[in-house]
Amino acid sequence: MNIDDKIKYLRKHFKRNKNIFELILIKYESINYYIRVDYNPSLKAYYLYSCDLDYLDKKKDKYINRQFIKAEALNYVLDIYDTIQYESFEDLKYTTDIVELNINDKTFKFNRYIPVKYYDLCACTLLAGLFMPARLTTVFDELVAEINGVSYRYEYKKEFKFDIYKTDLDRIFSFDIINQAEEVLKNDKIKFLEKFESGYLGFVEGHDNYAYVIQVIYNKETHMTRIVTTCECVGYCKHMCAVLMAIRENKLKNFYKIRMIRKNEDALERLLDISNSLLCIGGFDNQIQVLDDRFNFVNVPIINEVGDKTFEIIGDNDNELQEFVDKVIRGDKSE
Ligand SMILES: [Zn+2]
Repeated sequence: MNIDDKIKYLRKHFKRNKNIFELILIKYESINYYIRVDYNPSLKAYYLYSCDLDYLDKKKDKYINRQFIKAEALNYVLDIYDTIQYESFEDLKYTTDIVELNINDKTFKFNRYIPVKYYDLCACTLLAGLFMPARLTTVFDELVAEINGVSYRYEYKKEFKFDIYKTDLDRIFSFDIINQAEEVLKNDKIKFLEKFESGYLGFVEGHDNYAYVIQVIYNKETHMTRIVTTCECVGYCKHMCAVLMAIRENKLKNFYKIRMIRKNEDALERLLDISNSLLCIGGFDNQIQVLDDRFNFVNVPIINEVGDKTFEIIGDNDNELQEFVDKVIRGDKSE
């Protein structure tokens, strides 16, 4: 099923409800997400339904989340529902970061940010944002960034034409940043850099135990590039620049890969998508650190409370992770 079919399926699934609004995110920060708030006449209450369109597949209903909403919480939305002044509009400049908002038979389609002059529409996204999983909170901050006057924080994440192997770095980086990036590289701060289908993923150590993940999404044919980073720098920064330099020098070092051994649905297993292999950056004390799908670090104990291993190592080129794990396990036994 493609995304359009999935949306059609969901609409059909909910057709008995009275829909208040529908919010659809397509390729927004590489997320495809469907949200709707309905009045459910058989339950006589309002509900927010949400669904990650990338997961929705065979066992469809399993992937639809339902959340009860107090009628009072909907006040702002119902206010604009009755009085909405805007005409439907569609203003799409690019094919990623698409937002579609349907409210009261009107359709608003735009990229990335709610346009400032349509600020009333925030009522819907703010409400939906309250009920979203933590990994989506930045998306909802971003939706209202232009209205809040902070869109510059997100601007660099846009796609732009840039050959990651050839275009002069000074096209996007200042002289100072390039110098700082050279230092990052010289001090071996890039601990991992791996090539994937969609581009590269780098892991850079910063000051004071901070560390960042930098994702370079690259289309070889069109030379369109997008850089996403977890660092807090504003604009094009030394971390991005250093990763591009390392790519050009082919300084690759693959992440460790692990797979969780499924025991029971505990909090950790729910947090991580454990059906796939997970990227790991090493460990400390009795645990290892893995990246979740939003590049947050999650600590995974090497051994659980009953003494069983919690994961298996499936990628470890230099055997470093295995050595660390063996050491922890030996340490445990000798005590
Ligand atoms: Zn940075």
